Amino acid sequence: MFQIPDSDAPPLTINQCIVSCKMKDLKAKVHNVRSRIEWACEKAGRKPSEITVLAVSKGHPAARIRQLHKLGLSAFGENYVREAVEKQAQLADLDLKWHFIGPVQSNKTRVLAQYFDWVQSADREKVLRRLSLQRSEALPKLNICIQVNIDREEQKAGVLPENLEELVHFALDLPNLRLRGLMVIPQQASAHHDPARSYRKMDDLFRSLVSSGISLDTLSMGMSADLEPAIMQGSTMLRIGTDLFGIRASQKNP
Ligand SMILES: *Cc1c(COP(=O)(O)O)cnc(C)c1O
Repeated sequence: MFQIPDSDAPPLTINQCIVSCKMKDLKAKVHNVRSRIEWACEKAGRKPSEITVLAVSKGHPAARIRQLHKLGLSAFGENYVREAVEKQAQLADLDLKWHFIGPVQSNKTRVLAQYFDWVQSADREKVLRRLSLQRSEALPKLNICIQVNIDREEQKAGVLPENLEELVHFALDLPNLRLRGLMVIPQQASAHHDPARSYRKMDDLFRSLVSSGISLDTLSMGMSADLEPAIMQGSTMLRIGTDLFGIRASQKNP
């Protein structure tokens, strides 16, 4: 009787094939980002070890995150709660740190407090109070950055600069949070706006808080397009999506 011979390994699914074909590409992307960081640090008189890279994985599958973890990345940023929690479940075997960087709706704080290591986009008392209340005492304190709306854009989340100090003190008094610093998404670069200006203002705010005796270690600013000026202006954490993962599906047809 005719028999189909067994091969040693099952054929790759289409998904696995796409993933394995991309490993070389991903390695080149990581290398390129690291080189840009080294270049900018050299210009700024800083050390690359001062800069943390947060890989922004929104819109990309868990398998891709697994590959970037193999290439040395361990902190991942997500904007959508449900998408993030699904990927976390698929990657539970890895030692990853998860940062929430999207706008925080107050009805999502319970999930954020339960599933994330950091929330970088806290911007009001209600959200901070709920995150602290809902963080289990069995977990380490939830790391927090306060998002600042430095360019005063109507549509954007973030506390206005003049209200920052009060919110910082509010956060410092909450028992289950650990305030780490500030986060900013500047106004889009254009002929009228250079993000370096926003980054400089953020650095001033950060320094003035630190010199008033508050211990903060994180200034989260800089994305794929502008990591160099962010490093020049004192960033300690870059949030890089596109230049590590490639274009997101949502970016193809804006
Ligand atoms: C998507 C996103 C990023 C990453 O942007 P890229 O331009 O893809 O590097 C960084 N920060 C926040 C808050 C984001 O939503």
